[in-house]
Amino acid sequence: MRTTIRDIVIVGGGTAGWMAAAALSKVMGTQRYTITLVESDQIGTVGVGEATIPPITLFNGVLGLDENEFMRETNATIKLGIEFQNWRRPGHSYMHPFGMMGAEFSGIGFTNHWLRWVKAGGDPDNLRFSAEAQAALAGKFGRTTDGNPNLPKINYAFHFDASLYAAYLRRFAVARGVTRLEGKVVDVTLGAEDGYIDSITLEDGRVIRGDLFLDCSGFRGLLIEQALGVGYEDWSRYLPVNRAVAMPCARVEDPVPLTRAIAREAGWQWRIPLQHRTGNGYVYCDAWLEPDRAAELLIERLDGEAQAPPNHLRFVTGRRKSCWEKNCLSLGLASGFLEPLESTSIHLIQVVISKLLALFPKNGFEPLLIARFNREIERDFTYIRDFIIAHYKTTDREDTPFWAYVKHMEIPDSLTDKLESFRRRGEVQAENFELFKEPNWFYVLYGQGLVPDDYHPVADVMAEDDLKLRLAQIRSAIVQRVQGLPTHQAFLEKNCSGA
Ligand SMILES: Cc1cc2nc3c(=O)[nH]c(=O)nc-3n(C[C@H](O)[C@H](O)[C@H](O)COP(=O)(O)OP(=O)(O)OC[C@H]3O[C@@H](n4cnc5c(N)ncnc54)[C@H](O)[C@@H]3O)c2cc1C
Repeated sequence: MRTTIRDIVIVGGGTAGWMAAAALSKVMGTQRYTITLVESDQIGTVGVGEATIPPITLFNGVLGLDENEFMRETNATIKLGIEFQNWRRPGHSYMHPFGMMGAEFSGIGFTNHWLRWVKAGGDPDNLRFSAEAQAALAGKFGRTTDGNPNLPKINYAFHFDASLYAAYLRRFAVARGVTRLEGKVVDVTLGAEDGYIDSITLEDGRVIRGDLFLDCSGFRGLLIEQALGVGYEDWSRYLPVNRAVAMPCARVEDPVPLTRAIAREAGWQWRIPLQHRTGNGYVYCDAWLEPDRAAELLIERLDGEAQAPPNHLRFVTGRRKSCWEKNCLSLGLASGFLEPLESTSIHLIQVVISKLLALFPKNGFEPLLIARFNREIERDFTYIRDFIIAHYKTTDREDTPFWAYVKHMEIPDSLTDKLESFRRRGEVQAENFELFKEPNWFYVLYGQGLVPDDYHPVADVMAEDDLKLRLAQIRSAIVQRVQGLPTHQAFLEKNCSGA
């Protein structure tokens, strides 16, 4: 068994490569370890990936980034959730905000109390009990660092320019001793005895030896697939979109602190407001829409002047069968791809980095640890996959062949069980380790029109007047919180204007 790990080689300088380089240089340092990153300007990066979810604040926190500086450097705006338009049926919209709904009491989730209330004739607008949704609807944001325990916290993430984020992290990592090499990898040499990666060779003949290799080479999976051949699990029968066309346009209004996901004839369109422009893309299935037509439709629907030609991308939804194989880990697009509906790809990069740091090999590559790592990553991908499928499966739409297909397609048993549980008692019984918790499922499934038959029996224990009072208190705290916030635009101008 190979025992010493000193030289870490990262192949690829997109978001995945530079996130890994930044985190490893910060946590492991570059005294005991050398960290070398190889990237190729000739190949370039995927150039998309602008919406994130709240755990990104933890990643930036581990790096010790100043959040205002990070936002300025990446032209970032705030994201408080996602607005889904036309998903249930054309003309309908709902929101999946970050954070919880209401506040827990009596030891059960808030949605149980709220369902009791609605079934007795209360207002069915669940967003009234989300501070994030109310702030987003009012176009407001501020960091809730006042420590007032009586007012709700506002959970947030960012929209940012992915290329600027990678460039920012590159400066961070290089300043901490990471060596950056420009060049195209043309060969990978495996050890004759054990099949581990010994070295990579660049087009100009340079050979880079390493002990641990991180494959951040994008969809091609240069090391994990092309050299080690781990195989790919294809999930496109559940998530049939397989292409995207992306195109930024000029900003025409103050940025809203929300991602918009607008269902279209053969998929959906994203609209992501940054400080200096708006990101747009149409994610679709080419069985039902030609790429040229998808680009035309996207252009017709832009609300500002196009700023670049259409960027066409192809993908197969799924994951590498092993994320960690021998002395190679895959991150980002090299490890698999789940469409960007819930902005989970950058998050999964972060998950792989933090699991690698937690299980970092000390005396060689221990099969038990690697097996555990792979099991956990498989689980993370699978649970996120199910959550994304649920958005399609629960539609009322059958107005195009695409929507008819997703409405009637077979789904994994794990998701069937969750939907059944939700229909019966308003909870999906999410496991503790799942990224998406009960409130996330509730926002989406209720938004899609699923109204549970029942709720937890403890919700009936409280006297009706007490329940009424408690709901009024929660609601009033949300109103007070949102009233005290500046507008999102004022927040950006004051703290982190980069435009
Ligand atoms: C349509 C679409 C929309 C998306 N939207 C979101 C989103 O909103 N939120 C989100 O979290 N994620 C999103 N993602 C995913 C996100 O873009 C990626 O997770 C992220 O950018 C990481 O990409 P990467 O670094 O793995 O790959 P890439 O950006 O493709 O980088 C690959 C790197 O490898 C290098 N390379 C490749 N081959 C070689 C070689 N032979 N020699 C040397 N270097 C090489 C390239 O030069 C490049 O530097 C989206 C993805 C797509 C396709």
